Order: sequence, then structure tokens, then C-alpha cells
Amino acid sequence: MSDLPVLSVASEVFPLVKTGGLADVAGALPGALAAEGVAMRTLLPGYPAVMAALRNVEPAHHWADLLGVPARLLAASHQGLPLLVLDAPAFYDRAGGPYAGPDGHDHPDNAQRFAALSLAAAEIGRGAVRAFQPRVIHAHDWQAGLTAAYLRGAGGGPGTVMTVHNLAFQGIVPASMLEALRLPPALFSMEGFEYHGAIGMLKAGLQFSDRITTVSPTYAVEVRGREAGFGLDGVLRARAGVFSGILNGIDTGVWNPAADAALPAPFSAGKPTARRVSRQALRAKLGLAADADGPLFGVISRLTEQKGLDLLLAALPTLLATGGQLALLGAGDRAMEAGYVAAAARHPGRIAAVIGYDEALAHLIQAGSDAILVPSRFEPCGLTQLCALRYGAVPVVARVGGLADSVIDSNPMAMAANGGAGVGTGIHFAGNSLEALEAALLRTAELFRQPALWRGLQKRGMATDVSWAAPARRYAALYRAIAAP
Ligand code: ADP
Repeated sequence: MSDLPVLSVASEVFPLVKTGGLADVAGALPGALAAEGVAMRTLLPGYPAVMAALRNVEPAHHWADLLGVPARLLAASHQGLPLLVLDAPAFYDRAGGPYAGPDGHDHPDNAQRFAALSLAAAEIGRGAVRAFQPRVIHAHDWQAGLTAAYLRGAGGGPGTVMTVHNLAFQGIVPASMLEALRLPPALFSMEGFEYHGAIGMLKAGLQFSDRITTVSPTYAVEVRGREAGFGLDGVLRARAGVFSGILNGIDTGVWNPAADAALPAPFSAGKPTARRVSRQALRAKLGLAADADGPLFGVISRLTEQKGLDLLLAALPTLLATGGQLALLGAGDRAMEAGYVAAAARHPGRIAAVIGYDEALAHLIQAGSDAILVPSRFEPCGLTQLCALRYGAVPVVARVGGLADSVIDSNPMAMAANGGAGVGTGIHFAGNSLEALEAALLRTAELFRQPALWRGLQKRGMATDVSWAAPARRYAALYRAIAAP
């Protein structure tokens, strides 16, 4: 059986460009799919960081006018990842991040920038690149949402999958852009991509794709309800028959405590006590006291309301009362950043807050913390708790979305299960509740003071399969079900 050619369309791909979990997924899934007989190529915009990293590019197509600007496609590969890079300098060659300028404001032409990405994907789907004719296109998030609409407007193409990584971001733009985006006007209706009089780029993907997925089974249920559905719950209910949740994995090569250059000493599930060296290094690096008797809690996160880190700020007195410490790495909401910096100044040696983005420190926090806190209000999948499992840090998570699906709460029944050996891998608490978070901090400290129980949690966590192997099998089956002949 020959490999199934699939085009993945993503606005960020690790390690080239990353602002969140989408990049991790787009970067790691293709490698895992190779074992399933899927030949995935990834289309992404030619941001400066991407163009600078490419070697040995081959021109694969060009447009004199792609939504008003000249553009070309470059075939290349980066660290074994096959790519098609959309080189359209007028759209992508600029300072700042993939979505915002250096001033933090969104680029004003994001609609055109990502519609162009989607249009390029649709044209690849219709045969623009002779050497690569995908039988399935897998579009990620609103930035790739219009792909299926362009295909529908052009009369069809390969099978299409739309994956939602976070329904809170939908790419809604005024209807006056219809012409500039060269969208088929006939599809501008409630059954199409019209969203309350505007254009919904994610909605287009949800309406016109053959299959819809999101990144955990529980989130797939939550988004069919009003609260988590952000106005698209009705569409998702209507398309429930083709909508499923597939839990993400993590790249177990990048996240491997037995061979991680960011750690002072390797460790593995057989001997989690070897983590102590990392904990010492983490404390030393962040100026945390070496003699705390409670758990060292770690946080690696965007600092936003979604992540519930305003709740944690309010729960710090309880965290400190357990005798615990906090090592926080994150950036985002300015008031929250200031809140954590101030808390660290008030409690030197007990609370450390590093504001910024730092891959190496993220690895050290996973390796050196006793527990990783993820108090999200909603969480489509969440990756930090998966890394925590692999690194022997006990995840303490809000019982929502992928957090509920990936961590087994160490409740009394879970502790008694398996002939008394236990099956729990972490701690759950009700989301969006300060009281529940505080109770979880106390419960964590109580377990931490029982070394045999705690080691059990760590060992079972480290034995959990968080790789892409199982999710890749599910995606491959999905692709095969809808692949064009
Ligand atoms: P989201 O995509 O909503 O931000 P996820 O948990 O799905 O959340 O993915 C976040 C990813 O980004 C994880 O791999 C996490 O370790 C990483 N990350 C988040 N904030 C930082 C930071 N400040 N420094 C380094 N890595 C970070």
C-alpha cells in the first residue's frame, strides 16, 4: 500500500514558529503519521524566522496575484519535516509575531494573510503542485478555516478535516471583506460561513469540512454546550455525526527526561528520585529556598483568564500555608504578570516568577517541580500536564477538557483500585472555583507528605503513554475514511 499524501495547513509549526500548543501538534504529528503510512506535508506562511531557517528550497508554484499580492510556494524540509512554505513577502515579511506586530496589536490584514494561506491550500488540493497531490487536507484553527470554503467554491477537491485547537479564536471579519478575500458569495449564508452578518473563518471550516475534530473527547462534548461553544455550539451540534475528539500527544523526543540537554542530570521512571538534582538546580536558578518542606509547585503557561491564573494568584496564601513553593514561568496579561512579580517580591525564597518565554526553563520546571498546576477555566487539550506526566511532576488540574481526559484523579477509589496499588496519576479539582483550587493545593500537600503514595503517583504518571502513537493511528483512520480516490 502506498503512503497516503496529506497536506497539513497550520499558521505555526514547532520548532520554526510557536505561540502555543498548535505549533507542537503541527510539528510532531507528521513524524508519528509516517509510521501509519501517511505522508504529510505541512503548508505554513513564510515568516522571516521560517525563511531564515530554510535550506535547499525548491520553487513549487507561483501566483502573480494571490489575494492581490505575488506569492510563491517553496518545497523544503526542516529537521525531517516536509514543508511547503508560502512565500508572500507582502503578507509575511514583517516584524513581530505570526499574528501581532512588535507593539502587541494584531496585524491589520490578518484576514487577508490567513485567507491567502487557505486559498493556497485549496489550490494545492486542486493540483497546483504536480509532485504533491494530497488526497486529504487537514486544516488547523481559523487561520486555515477558509480552505474548505475555497474548495467548495471551486467545485471540490480532496477530503477535508478541520481541527479546532481553541474555539475561543474564530477569525471573524466584516462581510465587506467578501470580495477582497475572493470568497464565493453564494456560500455567505447561515448554512455557510456567515456568522451574525460577518464572515466566520473557523465557521467556514466547520461547515464545509468532511470531518471535524478537536483535541480531546471531553472538549468535544463541552463545546456542544452554550458556555464553551462561543456561539458555534449550534453548528457543532448540527454536525455532531462527523465531529470527534482526539487527545493530543507530545513529542517524546523533545520531551525525554532521560536525554534532555536542559536538565543537570537525566532521570527515568525506574528512579524518579534522581529528579532531586533537577529540583536543586531549579531552586538555585530561581532563588528559591532549599529547605522548604511542602511541595514545589510549577506553572508554565500563558498568563490569561482562560488558564485560571488569576485564581492561583488569589490562592497563593493557601499554597504558602502548605509549606510549598511556586516556580512560575509565563507571559500574557500585564496585570497578572505584575501580580506574580509582586508576590515573588513579597515572598522571596518561596515564590519565583519569570515573565517571558523560555523553552529550556520550561523543561527544568517540569523536571524539578514536585507538582505542575493547571487551573484552566477551559482547556481544549493542554500540553503541560502531558509533559508533567512524562517528567514525573504530579499534575494538579482543573477537571475540564483534555485535562480531565489525560490525568486520573487520585480519589479514594482510584487509590484502592488495582488491588490497592492505585491507578491515579494526579489530582483533579472543579474548574473556575477558588475554593476547589485551594482544597486541591491542600490535598496535594497531604499526598506529598506520604512518600510511598507520592512515588506511586509519579511512577504511574511516567508510565502513561503520552506519545503521538495512539492519536496518529486515529488521525490516519480518519484520513482513510475520507481520502479522495
Ligand atoms: P496553549 O496552546 O493554550 O497556550 P497548551 O498547554 O496547549 O496551551 O500549550 C502550551 C505550550 O507552550 C506548552 O508546550 C507549554 O510548555 C508552552 N509554554 C507556554 N508558556 C510558555 C513559556 N512562557 N515558556 C516556555 N514554554 C511555554
